[in-house]
Amino acid sequence: MRVSQMFIPTLREVPAEAEIASHQLMLRAGLIRKTASGIYAFLPLGYRTLRKIEQIIREEMDRIGAQELIMPALLPAEVYQFSGRWEIFGPEMFRLKDRSGRDFCLGPTHEEVFAETVRNEICSYRSLPMILYQIQEKYRDEIRPRFGVMRSREFVMKDAYSFDRNEEGLDISYGKMREAYERIFKRCGLDYIVVDADSGVMGGSGSQEFMIKSETGEEEIVFCESCGYAANIEKAQCVPDVYRSGEDTSSIEELPLEKVATPDARTIEELVEFFGCSSKEFAKTLIYQADDKIIAAMVRGDRELNQTKLQNHLGCTELSMADPETVKRITGAEVGFAGPMGLNIDILVDTEIAGMRNFVVGANETGYHFKNVNMGRDFKATDIADIRKAKEGDGCPICSNPVKVSRGIEIGHIFKLGTKYTKALNCIYLDESGKEHPMVMGSYGIGINRLMAAIIEQNNDENGILWPVSVAPYHVIIIPVNTTNPVQMEVAERIYYGLCSAGVEVMLDDRDERAGVKFKDADLIGIPIRITVGKKAGEGIVEYKLRKSAQIRELKVDDAINEAKQEVIGTAF
Ligand code: ATP
Ligand code: MG
Repeated sequence: MRVSQMFIPTLREVPAEAEIASHQLMLRAGLIRKTASGIYAFLPLGYRTLRKIEQIIREEMDRIGAQELIMPALLPAEVYQFSGRWEIFGPEMFRLKDRSGRDFCLGPTHEEVFAETVRNEICSYRSLPMILYQIQEKYRDEIRPRFGVMRSREFVMKDAYSFDRNEEGLDISYGKMREAYERIFKRCGLDYIVVDADSGVMGGSGSQEFMIKSETGEEEIVFCESCGYAANIEKAQCVPDVYRSGEDTSSIEELPLEKVATPDARTIEELVEFFGCSSKEFAKTLIYQADDKIIAAMVRGDRELNQTKLQNHLGCTELSMADPETVKRITGAEVGFAGPMGLNIDILVDTEIAGMRNFVVGANETGYHFKNVNMGRDFKATDIADIRKAKEGDGCPICSNPVKVSRGIEIGHIFKLGTKYTKALNCIYLDESGKEHPMVMGSYGIGINRLMAAIIEQNNDENGILWPVSVAPYHVIIIPVNTTNPVQMEVAERIYYGLCSAGVEVMLDDRDERAGVKFKDADLIGIPIRITVGKKAGEGIVEYKLRKSAQIRELKVDDAINEAKQEVIGTAF
C-alpha cells in the first residue's frame, strides 16, 4: 500500500487524556480514535493488527478442535434471568427495551446463550465433548473505563465454552484450552504469566488468569521466584507466620486478662505507640455486613483482610464493612474498639490468630482494650480460615521462600464452571444407559482489544511501537529518500513488487516529505522492517534496518528482499 493514499492520522503531541504508553501510542500512531467514553473506533492500521490477533486466536482454537460460530450481541432478558445474572450484573449491563417494552441487553458475556443453544440441540453423550467459540463485541458499562481500549465499554472478546460429560472431561478441555492460550500469547510476542485465580462464590472448581506484569495493571500478582507459584492476590494462599521466630506457642504461659484504658488509641498505629509493642501483638476485629447478616472477622494487627476470601468462605453475594452505626449497635462501642469478647455474632478468625498468645483486642467499650487475650480461654471462634491478604515477603504456600508481589494486566481467563449454568438452564445429556446428567461446562475468554494494548505496553520505546512481526499491521516499510528521483523510485517499486509477490505486507512511503519525517512515522507506527532507498540506489544498494535494533546495514537490493522475506517467514508459525 502506498502511504500517500493511506488513512493514518498520526499525532506529534502526546494526547493529554492518555496516561499509559499503549493508550498514547495507539492514539499517536493513528490506530484508534475515541467516539465516547470507553468506546473506540479502530482505524485501518489498528484494525489490521486486531484482525491479525483474531486470526492467530482462530488458528489456535481450530487446532484444538473448537468450532467457531457467532451469537447475537442483542439478547433477551430471559436468558440471563434463568441464571440469576440479570440481577447480579447490576448497572454493568447495558439494558434496553424493544418497541413493545420487552427487556433486552447487549451481551456482557455469553455462558447462558451457549448453554441454551447446546441444550436445545444436543441430547446424547455421543456429541460430547464439544468446544464452541466466537469472536464478538461485548458490552459492559464499566464504572471506570480507563487506559483507552484496556478497559473499554465495547470490546471484542474471543469467548469459548466447553461442554463435557463429567469433571474428567472438563479437565481435558480446560487443559487443551490452556495450551492454546499459551500458544496464542507466545505468537503475539508476549511475556506472560499464568496465575491461579479466584473462582468466585458462584462455584467452579478452578480458574486461571493470563497476565502480563505491568506497573499500570489493575491486578496484583503474588509469585514465587523459587518454585514458580503464582496467583492473583485475591486467591493467593497465606500460611501463618512463624510466631515470634519459631517459639512454640503452646509453651507460652497464658497471662491474666487485663482491661486497659486506651482513651486516644484506636488505630493500630496509635495502639503500637500506646502499648510500645509491635503491631503483630494485636488482633483487629472487623465488623462486616454479609448479605443480611452481621459478622466479625479477625486478622493480626499488621495484616490486611482479603475480602474475596472472606466472601467465598461465607458464600454471600454482598459483602461490605459495616457502617459506624451498625458497629456501635453490635459492639456497644465506637469504631476502633471492637473485639471478640462478648460479641453475639459469628466470629471468623484468620489462621494466624490461632497461633497467637497474650495479644491485644478491643474491649467493645469506647476507650478500652483488653491485653493478654487468648483464643479459646477468652473467646471462641465460630470458624478459622485463611482470610488475609498476601503481601511481599510472606512465605510461599508451596516452598516457604519469600514471595514477591507485582502489578499485572489480565489478558485472558480460563474457568472451570462445572454445572452451575447447565443445571440452571437444564442443559442435560443422556448417557449410554439413557440416564440424564447435566453437562459440565468451562468458559474461556480473551479480550482482544486489551491484548493489543498489552502487546504495545510490552513492545515500545521512546520513538513508538515495536510490533512483533506476527501482529504488525504491515511487515515492511520502504522509504525512498527523494520521491522526485526516478532511480530511487524505480528501486523502491522493484522491492515493493518483489516483496508483495512473496506474500510480504509492504508499505511504500511515496509521500513528498523529508526523510526525517518518514523515519519518525515509521518508528511511531512500529513497522518491523525498514528499507531505505537513497543515494546509493543507482549502485543497487539500499539500507536495511529492523525497528527493534539500532543497526543499519547496506545491502544489495536482492539481498534486502531476501532478508525481509526470511525475517517475515521465519517468524511465522
Ligand atoms: P476485569 O477484572 O479486568 O474487569 P473480567 O474478570 O471482568 O476482567 P472476564 O469476564 O474474565 O474479565 O473477560 C475475559 C477477558 O476480557 C479478560 O481477561 C480481559 O482480557 C477482557 N476484558 C474484560 N473486561 C474488559 C474491558 N472492559 N475492556 C477490555 N477488555 C476487557
Ligand atoms: Mg470486569
